[in-house]
Amino acid sequence: MASIGRGLDALRRVVFGRLPGRSAAAPAEELGRDGPLTAMVIVAHPDDAEFICGGTVAKWCDQGWTVYYVLATSGDKGTHDPDFTPQQLAALREQEQREACRVLGVKEVIFLGYPDGFLRADAEFRGQIVRLLRRYRPDVVLTWDGFRQGFNHSDHRAVGIAARDAIYPAVRDHLYYPQDKDDGLDAMQVNEMLLAGTTDPDYVVDISAYTETKLEAVICHRSQLGNRSPEEIRRTWGERMRAANRARQVESFKRVQIRRPARQEKEEQPPAETAAAPASKPTER
Ligand SMILES: [Zn+2]
Repeated sequence: MASIGRGLDALRRVVFGRLPGRSAAAPAEELGRDGPLTAMVIVAHPDDAEFICGGTVAKWCDQGWTVYYVLATSGDKGTHDPDFTPQQLAALREQEQREACRVLGVKEVIFLGYPDGFLRADAEFRGQIVRLLRRYRPDVVLTWDGFRQGFNHSDHRAVGIAARDAIYPAVRDHLYYPQDKDDGLDAMQVNEMLLAGTTDPDYVVDISAYTETKLEAVICHRSQLGNRSPEEIRRTWGERMRAANRARQVESFKRVQIRRPARQEKEEQPPAETAAAPASKPTER
């Protein structure tokens, strides 16, 4: 159990709202409260990350986190302009993504170059993600919720499922993708996932101080904005928060903890029936 002082401190920095249809749960411990972490944002298209987590990434970078982006595609289908070839569009959108990353403070962006609209959560794609995780060794992975109900882009679904399958158990077990070991990339474990676009969010980041930085990053994606002005986007975000009864700008995620943090294990006695369970057993909700 966190001390009262710590709990209040977490509440000051993060708004944990009461979600419709759910009872008020104890606030989840804020990621990074013991110091800056390393995060990897794994998404399908340029502009995905800015819209789903641009404020969170700006906040993390400002707090000293190291953030990497992995983009499965370069968004080569994302236009109604008949004059664009897929190659021209991909080059433009990679450039826009790099600009957005500079605004937010992202350390590096990796483009995997899969064709837009045809992403599949297959062994090859999962292996690419495993390799990047073993190379960059993030504490936290932020990706799409691949199991979201209802309307969704197939690439968002595929990247969410592939990232999840990469994290458990492939990246942890050295016999998956053993070539990585030969290349000096050891197995590792990611303990925290944040899933965006979820219908069941339970982790909310207050981005009020970073809304303008997020907007600046979003408008780097000029090819995707149509006639929308920055003022219009800002207004839409404000209306959305008011509709959700939020007093502050937030980004919402579903948090999946793969292993309880060591400190928490020491402070809490696990129930008898789970005491012997391996620490790496997934505890997904
Ligand atoms: Zn997308």
